[in-house]
Amino acid sequence: MRRFTILTLFAVLLFAAAYSQGSRTRELAPGVWFWQGNRDVQQPANCGWVLFRDYVLVIDANFPWGAREILPEIKKTTSKPIRFVFDTHYHGDHSYGNSVFVDAGAAIVCSQDCANELRTKGQAGWDKNTATGEFSLKPYRLEHPSIVFGDGMVFDDGERRVELKRMGPGHSKGDAVAYLPKERILFAGDLCVNWKSGNNTSDRDADHQNWVRALNEMARWDVRTVAHGHGALGTTDTLRTQAAYLDDIWKQVVAGLRTGKSPDDLIKSIDLSRHGDFAASAPGNASAVRAIYAKAQ
Ligand SMILES: [Zn+2]
Repeated sequence: MRRFTILTLFAVLLFAAAYSQGSRTRELAPGVWFWQGNRDVQQPANCGWVLFRDYVLVIDANFPWGAREILPEIKKTTSKPIRFVFDTHYHGDHSYGNSVFVDAGAAIVCSQDCANELRTKGQAGWDKNTATGEFSLKPYRLEHPSIVFGDGMVFDDGERRVELKRMGPGHSKGDAVAYLPKERILFAGDLCVNWKSGNNTSDRDADHQNWVRALNEMARWDVRTVAHGHGALGTTDTLRTQAAYLDDIWKQVVAGLRTGKSPDDLIKSIDLSRHGDFAASAPGNASAVRAIYAKAQ
């Protein structure tokens, strides 16, 4: 009996492990795929891919070790070649895997400002990386975009349409998003994240006020599903909630500045509890207050 119970438990655990692995990939609409990032294995960013008649467009390249896991997942869904990878922005968790896709035959696409940022801040971050072991960048190279756009770019083969739209500066200077009007799906990059770990608000080119404006603008688009840069899938409500969080910090920081408060005073006194999971990370909130304080002065 005891043996049976242990064997049953083992089988259940195996099934759970297989299920949780498989559940990282999800088809949002026919030919539109979402791959869920996982912070625990240093693949925190989400990824997407869209099947066109003749090729695949990937959204966000992850870290190189993430890209190496994503590639076979894409191949399970299609035999079409991966021609393009769109980086929503230059941060390493979304772009450092570019070379893995280039070696598989793809060209990297992003906004002109994103490309400039990757060549400067992104390259500096890559060069500074001292990690060893499985998360070392040493075995890889940083591949830069070979296709850039100003305000936008459209992939449309008559059946499928993906609109790349520059929405930054917000989370970074060159933020852009991928919008699928027919399927009503938006890949929003890190303009919005939907997890308890907070958002990175401290890029030196972040523009928090324009960021709020961009989120509220996208919340008015015809969108059913939002795939964020990190965390679970959401809706336009998620965009509004991220906007409200940033806007609230901005307003409270500006009010505090007028009365001579320091960032440390503000970190202690600002109440963000009404923003739920968006304010669940105390270090994330503190970092946002400092970043916004520096911009608002
Ligand atoms: Zn990110």
